Amino acid sequence: MRVVIDRQNRNIECEMIIPKNPKLTVDQLAEVKRIVEEFGCKIQVIEGAVQSIYAILGDERHELLINRIEGLDYIDRVDTIQSPHKLLDIRSELKNNKTVFGGIELGERFLAIAGPCTIDPKDPNRFYETAEALKEAGAHAIRGGVWKPRTNPYSYQGDDKALEILMEGSRRTGLPANTEVMDERNLELAMEAGVQMLQIGTRNALNYSLLRAVGQAVAGTDTAVLLKRGRHIGSINEFISAAEYIVNFGNPNVLLCPRGTLPSLEGFRNHPDESITPLLKEKTWVPVVVDPSHSVGKALYVEACSMAAVAYGADGLCIEANIDPVTGLGDDPKQAITPEAFRRLLKKCESIWELRS
Ligand code: PEP
Ligand code: MN
Repeated sequence: MRVVIDRQNRNIECEMIIPKNPKLTVDQLAEVKRIVEEFGCKIQVIEGAVQSIYAILGDERHELLINRIEGLDYIDRVDTIQSPHKLLDIRSELKNNKTVFGGIELGERFLAIAGPCTIDPKDPNRFYETAEALKEAGAHAIRGGVWKPRTNPYSYQGDDKALEILMEGSRRTGLPANTEVMDERNLELAMEAGVQMLQIGTRNALNYSLLRAVGQAVAGTDTAVLLKRGRHIGSINEFISAAEYIVNFGNPNVLLCPRGTLPSLEGFRNHPDESITPLLKEKTWVPVVVDPSHSVGKALYVEACSMAAVAYGADGLCIEANIDPVTGLGDDPKQAITPEAFRRLLKKCESIWELRS
């Protein structure tokens, strides 16, 4: 496959050689190989039972090369395949990227991120105790909201002071931390503090200037970005393209996070969308980390949604958890689970993970 990463026109191009007969003969293949090698490219044979195609692997597009190949009397044509998200496309050369977070190589082992919805700046010990208990229960990373996107303007909106608590929790446990950034000021503070995973929440998933700023800020660093699916996003391509904005600046460590879309079922906070995981996997090489907590919105349903996410092929989960959900801030009284429930959930999810392999 000839993969051209062209940062100007935003399309991935893969050149596929289609022969007139179902397969090239040994001599024909040798001739085709000789020609593409003259242009610094290689051939990848994609062998079908009936029809084979021959992808050109290389970095540049040579019109002359295409003309030489198309000029061979046993070649039907050279097709160009295009994708709107050239970097995240499953055919992109970035598909070999390995995202490592919390000591886990995504795809190799299951990643579990957990922590409260909102860090209470007046009660740092609650966060530290929650983080320790979750680590002990098997979490690989902790989450905690410092700045909160609240629907109601009179609800608690977050506090810069919580950032220090988040990072202290990370130091005490040795687990990397995730927190949401809603604007460029949050972004600057989070990067300065060394937050290891930035979250872009559902409300900002289509805020292209923030996506660009995040992409620029994380370029050249190890910082990962968890991009939640916008609650209003319909198309899968729109979601993938939002992540492409970030990766376009050079850091490929982005994770796609289905977290429920506009509610259409009485009883669930949002419409669960862990079922889009296989679609994301088919189109991209990007790890998928599902957030069951905001999806179903009730602690009681979180375990089932988590197991479904793993069954659908998710690489990990991001779950709201608190040592005492009832007295927590933000979403915790409704949807956070206890560290003990998290431990049980993890065990079940790991068994489903094993069944997949
Ligand atoms: C959160 O993670 O606490 C949060 C507000 O997430 P979302 O953007 O999915 O609502
Ligand atoms: Mn929340």
